[in-house]
Amino acid sequence: MDDEVEVQPRPGAGETQYIDALVIGAGFGGMYMLHRLRERQLTVRGIEAGGDVGGTWYWNRYPGARCDVMSIDYSYSFSDEIQQEWTWSERFAEGQEIRAYQRFVADKLDLRRDIQFNTRAQSVAYDDAKQRWIVETDRGDRFEAIYCIMATGPLSVPKDVDIPGVETFDGQIYLSGKWPHEAVDFKGLRVGVVGTGSSGIQIVPVVAEDAQELFVFQRTPSFSMPMRNGPIDADYMAQVKANYPALRAAAKSSYSGGVRSISSRPFFSVPVAEREELLQDAWRRGALALMGTFSDLLSNAAANEIVAEFVRGKIDEVVEDPETAERLKPRGYPIFARRPVLDTNYYEAFNRPNVKLVDCLTDPIAEITPTGIRTNARRIDLDIIILATGYDGLTGAMLAVEMTGRGGRRLKDKWAAGSKSYLGLAMEGFPNLFIIAGANGPSAFANFVILNEQNAEWILDCIDYMRAHDLTTIEATTAAETEWMAAVSSLAQTSLIPRANTWYTGANIPGKPRVFGIYTGGFNRYREICAQVASEGYRGFTFEPGQKAAKTG
Ligand code: NAP
Repeated sequence: MDDEVEVQPRPGAGETQYIDALVIGAGFGGMYMLHRLRERQLTVRGIEAGGDVGGTWYWNRYPGARCDVMSIDYSYSFSDEIQQEWTWSERFAEGQEIRAYQRFVADKLDLRRDIQFNTRAQSVAYDDAKQRWIVETDRGDRFEAIYCIMATGPLSVPKDVDIPGVETFDGQIYLSGKWPHEAVDFKGLRVGVVGTGSSGIQIVPVVAEDAQELFVFQRTPSFSMPMRNGPIDADYMAQVKANYPALRAAAKSSYSGGVRSISSRPFFSVPVAEREELLQDAWRRGALALMGTFSDLLSNAAANEIVAEFVRGKIDEVVEDPETAERLKPRGYPIFARRPVLDTNYYEAFNRPNVKLVDCLTDPIAEITPTGIRTNARRIDLDIIILATGYDGLTGAMLAVEMTGRGGRRLKDKWAAGSKSYLGLAMEGFPNLFIIAGANGPSAFANFVILNEQNAEWILDCIDYMRAHDLTTIEATTAAETEWMAAVSSLAQTSLIPRANTWYTGANIPGKPRVFGIYTGGFNRYREICAQVASEGYRGFTFEPGQKAAKTG
């Protein structure tokens, strides 16, 4: 185990803890929120379902887990001391290194003394009379807090297994998003990986090295691009450290919240031969370079299809068996409309004699049996099944707790037709409840760490404002929420993104209402809007003046 902390002593079960703020979740967002609230001398507690800090990285320990945002971007910017002391070893850090970084930050800021681990919020209920959030946990804790901050993450609840017979399997079965702490040995075994999104595509080449046979069950093929990962050399890291202020400023004023160049050239403004050169060069550079080669790849369907075909050609170049290559080629949705995947030797893995592609579009999985997976056409015996089948994204963690707002209104009812929020930060009917990296904010379209920081800072400023003006509660208005949701939806409609079935829209979960749940206007614009809302006295929010908020206990 590379992490696990002792469970701290708690007040007796059933005893209420009266605090100013409760932060639920100790991933990147929760850790930073807790730190900043503590600076204000507020009484603040964190609770976290995992055994240590880390959030999604705490659970995602599957082989090959790695971040697809560059390490130097995917790290806190708020403390120069932290960014000077920490040295990344690879361009794209492995999960284990990210967890080590998170533990380093937790130690540095002494965060754990205020976080209760192995504790899951079960109910989060607003008490109108007390103007407080009452939070009860699976370990019998009861908190009364003025502010409740949901830092539960957009990708923390794995999708329920929707393959019949899963409970009958006699071998070992693993979920990518809830991977055990112990290493799993694949040597000499027959392994099946179900799912070819970001997680499955990272798992396949690593497991292929050890497994006797590896069957990749692919339903929708992904467009994957070479990550071109590698060590960060000392000179480069020194340059980065010397230039962090400028790099962070550039990241924060960019569309994605990260340092990544995006061209301003529309695709068809460039002559054909030059276009081809630019695409080839982007492929050589790897990572998301291809996505940034032209300005309109997410809005111009014809340009998008040419780039999609370019990637299909790359699959042909790598995969030796033409039939396998053909089946690996994504069709029927625009490239970049699903989360672009970055890989190391994914397509190459299919040239190994022990790796077989099972095309579930033509031969769907019928069931899991005691001995393996049965598709409509065949039975495949397996010792291990890995389900890399994704997440109940954006809304899963919020709906996993029994949450009720003003007047006992359930979040499940408010979100019955899909998520609704204002700025992804707050909701009508749920006063003093803040969400970090919530549904309808920039979410997966932004660098999560920088988005988490921005959200936490906005929340902190808001709490400062309330305290300075003797205000007890803040609540989004229905009009502001409606207007924001209309903006999120209309922005999405101007792009090709909604044309794919993804967790962005809820389409990956059977029966989930379809709402395009991500603000696609860019992190830079989002940040400006949030700042403007605050500078206009929190436009779109109402406040209640207070007498009760100041009291703790
Ligand atoms: P995902 O992108 O939703 O992929 C899930 C895969 O499982 C899809 O290929 C899906 O096929 C397949 N699947 C689901 N149910 C199935 C079933 N019953 N039968 C057959 N196939 C099934 O999930 P993910 O790969 O975990 O990635 C989710 C998100 O996490 C990513 O978009 C990314 O934002 C983040 N992530 C990032 C990294 C990174 O930084 N490198 C790594 C992992 C994850 P269909 O599409 O046909 O449903």
